[in-house]
Amino acid sequence: MRRKLPMTKASIIMLLLISGYSLANDLPQTANVPGGVVILDTPKDYNKAPMAFYQHHRVLMIKQNDKWRAMVGIPLDAKPGPHKLTIIADNQADFIHFDIINKDYPAQYITLKNKRMVNPNPDDLARIKQERIPITKALDTWTETLIINTDFIPPVQGQLSSRFGLKRFFNNQAKNPHSGLDIAAPTGTDIVAPGPATVINTGNYYYNGNSVFLDHGQGLITGYFHMSDIAVKDGQTVKQGDLLGSVGETGRVTGPHLHWNVYLNSYKVDPTLFIAPYMKQLQSADSE
Ligand code: ZN
Repeated sequence: MRRKLPMTKASIIMLLLISGYSLANDLPQTANVPGGVVILDTPKDYNKAPMAFYQHHRVLMIKQNDKWRAMVGIPLDAKPGPHKLTIIADNQADFIHFDIINKDYPAQYITLKNKRMVNPNPDDLARIKQERIPITKALDTWTETLIINTDFIPPVQGQLSSRFGLKRFFNNQAKNPHSGLDIAAPTGTDIVAPGPATVINTGNYYYNGNSVFLDHGQGLITGYFHMSDIAVKDGQTVKQGDLLGSVGETGRVTGPHLHWNVYLNSYKVDPTLFIAPYMKQLQSADSE
């Protein structure tokens, strides 16, 4: 599962490691749209690591070539127009202004035989409400990590079946937009960690089925849903490529697949931005 780095890239990384930079190797692709990721350079040099906030959420900061950069997750419901990042450093506030442009995500119509997955009964609703507590707690995790690895590998080998952001209709009822990326694969297919992380939550949830949440540091969190089984425990650390469990069809599904979420500063963002070099591979499986 591990990807070999081309010599040139490996030697650049070596050089940077020797020179002592805290390097985030390959950064995600950027997209200044709702559900996208924006990377912003801080306006000046700071004595200490600056803190950045977007819509009152702490934002991931990386140091690259001696410059601090903020990696900002944009929510799917963000309004196109001017947006603002606040940088707090050396006892003062700086503001970085940036623009979000519109993106029209397509609609998707899904028919589910299990009507309770579209209109849960009162018991189901009580369960869903209870489940929000551990899930929200996991998603609120902030770990102060200096070195962030965003150079992800796909968590599963399979075919891309449903993209992030689709406006969703279940049995013709408008529901929340698609919050992650679906990769279809047979039940039992290995799901692996896309990067080094700590397991912060595992459980069986109404819509998500068997789930695992990973903390990659500084508000970068990933979620794995509908699994047939879970191979990790809360608190466990994983390396890139380590087994998390296997593909299944637990929760609200129409067939076996992995639903993969990527959260950045508490917002769900498009996972494909983190695995851009592998997209052709996932899509070519699509046409087979
Ligand atoms: Zn999905």
